[in-house]
Amino acid sequence: MSPKQAFAERVEAGLNNKQMRTSVPLTQDNLRGGRIRAMAELGNVEEWRELASSIRMHTLENLDSYLEQLAENVRNRGGHVHFAAQASDALAYVEQVVRSHQAKKVVKSKSMVTEEIHLNQHLEQMGVKVVESDLGEYIIQLAKEPPSHLIAPAVHKTRGDVAELFSKVANRPLSDRTEELCAFAREQLRGEFLTADIGISGCNFAVAETGSVVVISNEGNARLTTTMPKVHIAVMGMERIVPGWRELDVLLPMLTRSATGQKLSVYATAITGPRRAEDADGPEEFHLVILDNGRSDILGTAYQEVLKCIRCGACLNVCPVYRQIGGHAYGSVYSGPIGAVLTPLLSGYEEWKELPYASSLCGACTEVCPVKIPLHDLLIEHRKDQVERGYAPFSENAAFRAFGYLTSHPTLYGTAVKLAHAGFGLLADGDVIRKGPGMLAGWTAVRDLPRPAKQSFRQWWQARKEGKA
Ligand code: SF4
Repeated sequence: MSPKQAFAERVEAGLNNKQMRTSVPLTQDNLRGGRIRAMAELGNVEEWRELASSIRMHTLENLDSYLEQLAENVRNRGGHVHFAAQASDALAYVEQVVRSHQAKKVVKSKSMVTEEIHLNQHLEQMGVKVVESDLGEYIIQLAKEPPSHLIAPAVHKTRGDVAELFSKVANRPLSDRTEELCAFAREQLRGEFLTADIGISGCNFAVAETGSVVVISNEGNARLTTTMPKVHIAVMGMERIVPGWRELDVLLPMLTRSATGQKLSVYATAITGPRRAEDADGPEEFHLVILDNGRSDILGTAYQEVLKCIRCGACLNVCPVYRQIGGHAYGSVYSGPIGAVLTPLLSGYEEWKELPYASSLCGACTEVCPVKIPLHDLLIEHRKDQVERGYAPFSENAAFRAFGYLTSHPTLYGTAVKLAHAGFGLLADGDVIRKGPGMLAGWTAVRDLPRPAKQSFRQWWQARKEGKA
């Protein structure tokens, strides 16, 4: 099956999934409402967005020196740093740490970058038990599904689905009461934290000036993941860095306000190297894996701004396309507008050229992005790139070339408009074409096509000037 067919099938499945199409809009509306309220509290939202954007741009423009500073500070505090050029390098490094400790169980806190490199599958193939500890991730791990949203991975699941999944683990029927389900998950996961050999987390932001890794959560699971096991491995995309705590002070609330409408998440944990003698808790060993995996190829290109992303998910929560098809339809780890821009850059057009077209280009994503990424402009840039690199179908290329030629030859264009009006008259039902031939069939299968006007605007204008219209 071609990537195009596969994408069409996933979209079809999303459109026909009534349950998903009920739960996704509900969550979207809740999160979007929370974001609007929380951002309004800031006062001048545009100034905050401008500041957040400039911090991210400055960091990207000086990424090499901030990464060096981060690595040096992590090492100075007794941690290990590994720069991974590809996903395979990151997997090999984690594997080596896991083997050196003969680890049998790994507990994880939510991390999109480990989804990107398929870390769970790799560890499971090694015979290591992996337990996701974020409630949403725990649910989809039990369901054997990928996340469908950046911050709400199980957004497509109902309480009934969760009760069914948890009942299988409990070996007894559980009700769909939220309290009962949460209590069950807490009880299950506490045992896993206590017996895990290694904790693996992502990284919301790494602070270069102190070599700290900051992880946020609302359930406390990230703190338990990073402090209870003897070894902690943090995996971060190379762009998830801030120069210092002053910059973090701006970006962290921008992330939480945009993501869930909170001033700050319930927990914000900063880890600076392994446990010291005077510390009450913490891991004995700390590893930081800094992943490139295609990111450095984006630096310095027209797409550079996509690396400003702080993974808040706000663009997903306003996207009308995501609302209808859900996260799984994208087929990629990163869904919604940010996924449609980022995935083809990280993994190529061969498999992902459809994603930039999964957008109405309404621009709602760009309007809400807390770091001002021009998402819809980047989607257009992708479409342009695809045409220039020969990915567009021959028929589409030919049609646009013909259109370009016509519009740059006014006399010919005027004649073509007249002919089109007459020609389409055979197909029209009044002023509307309901069933088009050839390439038009795809359009008219789902919407009406207006019949071309009898005269062009220029002809009408001329006639008006002459008093004939
Ligand atoms: S692109 Fe902007 S809105 Fe979307 S997840 Fe990233 S930071 Fe949030």
